[in-house]
Parts: sequence; structure tokens; C-alpha cells
Amino acid sequence: MSEPAVSEAPLLEVRDLKMYFDVSKPLVTRLVNRMPRYVLKAVDGLSFAIRRGETFSLVGESGCGKSTVARTVAGLNSATGGEILIEGKNLAGLKRKSSLSDIARRMQMVFQSPYASLDPRWRVRDVIAEPIRAYGLAASKAEERAQVAELLIQVGLSPRDGEKFPHEFSGGQRQRISIARALSSKPEFLICDEPTSALDVSVQAQILNLMTKLQDELGLTYLFISHDLAVIDHVSDWIGVMYLGRICEITPKSELFRNPRHPYTRMLLETIPDLKGGRERKPPEGEVPNPISPPPGCAFHPRCAFASERCRRERPELATFGPARVACHAVEEGRI
Ligand code: SF4
Repeated sequence: MSEPAVSEAPLLEVRDLKMYFDVSKPLVTRLVNRMPRYVLKAVDGLSFAIRRGETFSLVGESGCGKSTVARTVAGLNSATGGEILIEGKNLAGLKRKSSLSDIARRMQMVFQSPYASLDPRWRVRDVIAEPIRAYGLAASKAEERAQVAELLIQVGLSPRDGEKFPHEFSGGQRQRISIARALSSKPEFLICDEPTSALDVSVQAQILNLMTKLQDELGLTYLFISHDLAVIDHVSDWIGVMYLGRICEITPKSELFRNPRHPYTRMLLETIPDLKGGRERKPPEGEVPNPISPPPGCAFHPRCAFASERCRRERPELATFGPARVACHAVEEGRI
């Protein structure tokens, strides 16, 4: 496995993505109370690429901006800056309605809560058939019914389940229905935002196995978002570790678990129990700072055992170390 290269034309490329939110009080309140404007930099200059058929995962603590990346790539947020390219074409440059519709069909999202995509008043067959109708993918009612039945089988349900309503299913089954709906427009690329975090651990494994099986069968490409390294380990080819809106390490999965480089990656790994070695889970040290006023220099420095004076004033940029890219002065200086 090698790092996605430009010549290999990644299916998705994100360049210097920025997503800022103005979280200031209303203008009059600010003027009366002499308050400044506050801008939350939820995503602040993110770049990565995903090759066809691979899974790129973003991991980090709650509030690091990973779900904002997912929603922005899916087109649910308008980026403040940067570019999102599909097969080298900048999405912002696509003007024709047909081109935009084609991208929307090829790129689908699976949400954390299955309720987000399942209308409780609709029978499951209609929930799944809606994208088929919207994109005109079936020539007749009979063909539509056949496609819905096939999708239900593909996700491990029965065609008869199409007659039921979403509330008649368990959480895991509802997530299977969401996946069937996401697949019904015949996409190539799925953006999966914490798709298993609302499920019991045993059900989580079943859904992750299903997603891996579907990827193999259909050649799907995934952008996977999770705070859970065990989930990330299950599905990923490449992993981007996020901290306060930026990537601090991009690495192949095997490297992340065998040879983590960034101090934050190391801290995250210490939070998962080592069942074989008997190591106990260590809670993460310190708290994520307020993203509205992040620390200067390296934003991780208040929690980092390797922080130096340079770390407190100079923000590290990603640089190449072996197969990984890491943003850390201590790694660059050979201190760790
Ligand atoms: Fe720690 Fe400095 Fe590296 Fe930041 S740049 S992770 S503070 S050593």
C-alpha cells in the first residue's frame, strides 16, 4: 500500500479545506458590550486524497471537526475555502445541473442515526426506492421492486421487510436499511459519519463486516468518520488523525497501530485497552481547548509531554516521515 499520488488520480481529493463559522453575538449586543467577533475554525486547512476502492478514515476526539469535514465533502456545508475534487474535477466549478446531479448520485452519506435518513411514515420499500425514482434508475415499477428486493438481500434483510415501517426494526437493522437506501442510487463513494456509534458493540461488528463486504463486492470507496480507534482499525486503509480542525498525522493503518509518531496519536492509542497484553485503558490526558481561541503554536502543546518553547510559538506543518506525514516539531527534531 502506498500513499495516494496525484498520478494515480484519486477518486476524491480535498485541498486546503477550510470551514469557519461566525459564532459572534448579534451586532447590536457586540457594539453595546464592546465585544469582539468570534470565528470558530472548525476545519482549518485540511488536505487528503482517497484512491478508488480504499477507505480513508478521520479519527479524533469529539469537536475536532471530523463530522464537519464529512458534511462539507457531502455538500451539506459550503466550504469557507479550499477545493474538493472528484476525479480531478473541482466540485465548486460544476455549474451544469446534470453534472451536479450525477455527483450527488455517485456520492452518498450514511449517518450516525439511522433516523436521519428514514422517514418513519414511509414503508421501507419506499424509503429505499426514493433515490431510484429521483435519479430515474428503474424503467418500470416491476424493475424498481426488483432493485429494492435485491438491495434488502444485499444488506442481510428479506424482501418481505420492505412492507414494514422503520420502527418495526432494531437499531442495527435500521442501519442496514439506511445503507440499502444509500446504495440504491448506485454510488461509488460513501461518506460514513460515525455509522456504528449509536449501536451495541456486537451489532457494531456486524455492520462493519457488512460495510467491508459491500466495499469488496461493489468496489466502493469510503470516507469514514469515527472517534473509536477499534472501529477505525476494522475498516481503514489510510487514517488521518485530527486535532482542533487540522490533521496532525496521516498514515497507513498498519503504521498507526505499530508505529504511531505524533504525541496525540500516541495518546489516543493509550485510550484503547490492550486485551492481549493486559494493558488497561488510560483516559486521555487534559481537555480539548476551546476551538474559538485555540492555543498559539501547536494547538496540542498544553497537553503534550514533549512541548518545547518552539511548540508554543510556531505551528508545525505536515512533513514526510517514512510512509506517514506528521505535523510535530519533536518528531522533526528527532526528540521522539
Ligand atoms: Fe507536542 Fe510540540 Fe509536537 Fe505539538 S509540535 S505535538 S507540542 S512536541
